[in-house]
This record gives sequence, structure tokens and C-alpha cells, in this order.
Amino acid sequence: MQSLTNRSKVVSDKTMTWKERMYIPAILAGLRITIYHFFKKKVTIQYPEQKREHSKYFRGVHVLKRDDEGRENCTACGLCAVACPAEAITIVADERKKGEEHLYREEKYSAEYNINMLRCIFCGLCEEACPKDAIYLTETISTSNYHRDQFIYTKDMLVEGIKSGERIDINSRRQGVREGAM
Ligand code: SF4
Ligand code: SF4
Repeated sequence: MQSLTNRSKVVSDKTMTWKERMYIPAILAGLRITIYHFFKKKVTIQYPEQKREHSKYFRGVHVLKRDDEGRENCTACGLCAVACPAEAITIVADERKKGEEHLYREEKYSAEYNINMLRCIFCGLCEEACPKDAIYLTETISTSNYHRDQFIYTKDMLVEGIKSGERIDINSRRQGVREGAM
């Protein structure tokens, strides 16, 4: 059979020499490789204490934006859910009532907005599809968990802080929501 790399070796069952039977050269060769890697620059990091720097194109957990007056941008049009190839987004729309103008920018808003992070592939198509600049992907990494239901990010975890322009820390907010539910 033709070799692709020319690195294959023919295996033989020849009897070992006395030098090979001592295994010392093989052990020393192994130690040499270990020592070489011991002093090399480490590629592993001590996560979560240390964080790796991401590419500027990195896409993490979503955030639902507010406008300059602190009102939610999302009008529950559903375009993000339609654009999502993983069908990770579910939305329940509601009509804005009188007196809620300071909460929601348009007459319609999302009463519920859920993203299933186990389905999401962080492609960013929801962000591109949104006509209201309401959804953005942040640099926050989705957290790990032992329970599947904890990966359903609800609106209260996604919508950004009440003050205009304030970016929420999804992880601490998530923790707060969980503690509140206990
Ligand atoms: S990033 Fe992609 S997969 Fe994730 S919710 Fe948005 S459109 Fe769907
Ligand atoms: S996030 Fe944007 S695209 Fe999605 S429902 Fe809200 S306004 Fe529509």
C-alpha cells in the first residue's frame, strides 16, 4: 500500500539486543522529552482564574440591548428566531400598555425571550437579522453546568442593566437569578 507521509515503519518481530532489553536508553530518551517539555512555555492556562484572550471576532453569550433612555429595544418581531439555524430562540410577544412607555421602545415587546445555549452555535445570525439593534453577542463565555435546564437563558438573564449603556455580567446575574429562585 502506498504511504501518504513516508513516515511509516515496517514492524518486525526481531529479537531484542541485550542493550534494548535493559531499557535504559529508551527510558533516558523518554526523560529527555519530558524535561524538554517541562521547561517549554506552557500552553495550558489556569481557568477560571486565568482567562484566555479571545479573537476580536469571538462571539459569546447574547445581550438584549436598551436604548439611550433605558427602554428595551426588542419589539418581538421574531426575525432572530426565524434566522436562527439551530432554532434556539423562543419569544412570546405582548402589547405595551399605557404607562409602560418608559420600559419598552415600541408598542410590542417580548414578554418572554429564551435562548437555549445548548442548541446555540454562536453564529451571530440573530444579531445580523435584528432590525432594531436589540440583540448582540458579547465576549462572555457561556457557563458550564450539570443541569440542562440551566442552559435556557431567560429574558431576565439576557437583558442588559437598567442604566443606559451598562453591560451586565451575565454570569453574576445568572447566579443572582438562581439564588432568587431558591
Ligand atoms: S447565535 Fe446563531 S445559533 Fe445562537 S441564537 Fe443566534 S442565530 Fe441562533
Ligand atoms: S431581538 Fe431583534 S429580531 Fe429578535 S425579536 Fe427582538 S427586535 Fe426582533
